[in-house]
Amino acid sequence: MEFLDLPPMLGAAGTVRLPGSKSISNRVLLLAALAEGETDIRDLLSSDDVDRMLDALRALGVPWRREGDSLNYRVTGVGGPFPVKSADLFLGNAGTAMRPLTAALAVLGGAYTLRGVPRMHERPIGDLVDALRALGCRIDYSGQPGYPPLTIGTPALQLDRPIPVRGDVSSQFLTALLMALPLAADQAPAGGIVIEVQGELISKPYIDITLKLLARFGVAVQREGWQRFTIARGSRYRSPGQIHVEADASSASYFIAASALSTGANDQNGLKIEGVGLDSIQGDIRFVDAARQMGADITGEPGALRVRPGRWPLQAIDLDCNHIPDAAMTLAVMALYADGPSTLRNIASWRVKETDRLAAMACELRKLGASVDEGLDFLRITPIAPGGWRAAAIATYDDHRMAMCASLAAFNPGGLPVRIQDPRCVAKTFPDYFETLFGIAQPRANVPVICIDGPTASGKGTLAGAVAARLGWHYLDSGALYRLTGLAARQQGVALDAAHEPRLAELARTLPLRFADGRVWLDGQDVSEAIRAEQAGMDASRVSALPAVRTALLDLQRAAARLPGLVADGRDMGTVIFPTAPLKIFLTAGVQERAERRHRQLQARGVSVTLEGLCADLQERDARDQARATAPLKPAPDALPLDNSRLSIEQSVEQVLAWWQARQPF
Ligand code: C5P
Repeated sequence: MEFLDLPPMLGAAGTVRLPGSKSISNRVLLLAALAEGETDIRDLLSSDDVDRMLDALRALGVPWRREGDSLNYRVTGVGGPFPVKSADLFLGNAGTAMRPLTAALAVLGGAYTLRGVPRMHERPIGDLVDALRALGCRIDYSGQPGYPPLTIGTPALQLDRPIPVRGDVSSQFLTALLMALPLAADQAPAGGIVIEVQGELISKPYIDITLKLLARFGVAVQREGWQRFTIARGSRYRSPGQIHVEADASSASYFIAASALSTGANDQNGLKIEGVGLDSIQGDIRFVDAARQMGADITGEPGALRVRPGRWPLQAIDLDCNHIPDAAMTLAVMALYADGPSTLRNIASWRVKETDRLAAMACELRKLGASVDEGLDFLRITPIAPGGWRAAAIATYDDHRMAMCASLAAFNPGGLPVRIQDPRCVAKTFPDYFETLFGIAQPRANVPVICIDGPTASGKGTLAGAVAARLGWHYLDSGALYRLTGLAARQQGVALDAAHEPRLAELARTLPLRFADGRVWLDGQDVSEAIRAEQAGMDASRVSALPAVRTALLDLQRAAARLPGLVADGRDMGTVIFPTAPLKIFLTAGVQERAERRHRQLQARGVSVTLEGLCADLQERDARDQARATAPLKPAPDALPLDNSRLSIEQSVEQVLAWWQARQPF
C-alpha cells in the first residue's frame, strides 16, 4: 500500500486495547536473555523493532519461544556471556536494540558486527562508543565515524574510575550503559562501577523505566540526582519469573488526542484506553498532564484511561517537552485545533530520531495549512482557522510517529480527507494502528464506496479485491452472500423456489457467518471452497432472484461500509445498496474472453469442460440475468464502463485507481 486515505472523522468513542510498550519490550527481552533463569514475558509488543531484538537474541544463542500465536514469550536466560561469540546482527531502525546491544556486547566481548537500515547509519552513537571506549571496550566504526555500523572486539575493562557519558543527546546511551555494566559487576572495585552523566540529562523518565526494570531483574542501581549512578560489585541479573509489559504510553497519546478532538461524539462514556493507567512506569504517561492543560478530560481507571472530550477549541500551550519527547509530537498536531499559537520547547532530541522530526513535523503541518516556526530546539505552531484547512498528502519519512500523528488531522473541522503516504511504517511499534483507530472512530459522512458490477466471469471479484488491497479498504463480495444463502438452504433441505421465499429470506437474514484470514465459515464449518463450486453459483442465481432474500441481505451489505472505505462487487451495488457511492464501475468483456478465462480457471481446478459449452452457458446466463425482473444485470446510470477484454488485471486496477484519484482533492 503506497498510501492510505482517511475520510474525515468526527469523533472517537468505545474501547481500545493498546499493544505493549516498545521501550519496555526491548529492555525486558535483553534483561531476560542476560538473566539467570527462565522469564515468562506477557503481552510483549509485536512489531518490527521487537522482531529485530528477538532475531538478534536468537543469533546470539539465547533460546526463546512464543507461546502459540499469543503475545507471551518464554526466554531462557543465559546468566552471563552469550553462547555465540561471533555474529553479524542486523537491527533495522531499532534504536532500542542498537544501543543496549552495542553496550552489552562491548562489555562482554567477542567478534560482532551491528548494522541497520540506512537511516540507522545516520543516527549518532558516538557518545555511547566514547563512554564504552573509556572503560576499555574495543569498538570500531566500519562506516562513518560516530555512526553505525560498528564492529566489536574483546575489551580490557578498567572499572576503577567513573565512566563519563553525555546525557544531552539521547538518554538511550545511559540506558545502554546501565543495562550493560552489571555484566561486569564481578570485576568491579569495592565501591562499585560509577557512571557520571555529563551535561543536562534529557528524557529522564526513560532512565526511570530502565532503573525500575533493572530492579525487577535483581539489580539495584544507586542514584545521586541524575548525575551519578553506581552499580554495586557482585550485582547479577536474576529472572523475576514472570513480567508483564504495559501498553505503550506514547501510543495512548493518539487515542487521547482523538477523543479530545471529538467534536461530534455523543457518547457520554467517551473512550476507554486499556493497557496503561495513570500509575504507568513510562514517562510518556505525563502526556496526560499536557493533554489536560489543552482541555482534554482524562480520568484514570485500574490499568486504563478514560477520555471524554473537554474544552473546545483546545487551549494553546507553551510547554517544555523534554520529559515526553515522543508523545510531544502528538501535541504538535493537537495544537492545530487550539485557540492560539502553541510552543513546544526543548525538543532538540527530535532531530536524531527515526527522522529529523522537527523539520518533518514543520513541513507536514504547513501542508495542512498551519503556519509553523521551526527553531533549533522548538516548534511554534499557529492553529489553522476553520476555513483554512487544506486536504494534504502527508509524507511519513519511514517514521511510525509521523504517520500516527498525521491521522489526527482527519478530525479537521473542514471535513477534508487526509492522505498518509507509506502508512505501513507504523509497524515499527503499532502494526494495527489504523485498524484500531477505525474501530473507534466515527466518520463525518458516508464511508466512501467503490462499486464494481458486470456480467458473470468479467473478473469483477478479482478487480474489486485488488483495488481494495491497494487502497487498504474492505471488500464486499456480495455474490458470496447469495452463494452462502443457497448453501445454507441446501444444508437445511429448503427448496430454492418462490414457494419457500419467506423461509429463504429468514435464512439469509440470520446467516451464521464468520470471515477471517480470507476464509469464510458457515455455522462453524469452513465453506470457502464449497461456495465456489459451479452448483453454488447456480443456486445463488436462483435465490438472488427472490425479492425477500435481497431485502434480507440489505443491512448486512450496508454494514460492510466501514472505515476507511469499501469496494463492493455485485449486481445491484451501485443501484440499490450504495446508490450514492462516489465511484461506480461497470466491467465488461467479450463472451469469448470471459469463456476463455473461466475455462482456464476451471482447468486449474481440474474440472473439464469445453470452451464452446462455456461460451453457450455464459450467453444464456447473460440473457437470463438481463431479463430477470428482480435486480437485472444493468449498469447504474452513473457507472463508468470498463471493457477489460484486452487489459491485464493490473491495467484494470490502475484504471479504476486513476478514476478514483481524479475525484480526490489531493
Ligand atoms: O458474483 P457471483 O458469481 O459470486 O454471484 C453469484 C450469483 O449471485 C450471480 O450470478 C447473481 O445472479 C447473483 N448475485 C446477485 N446480486 C449480487 C451478487 C450476486 O443477484 N449483488
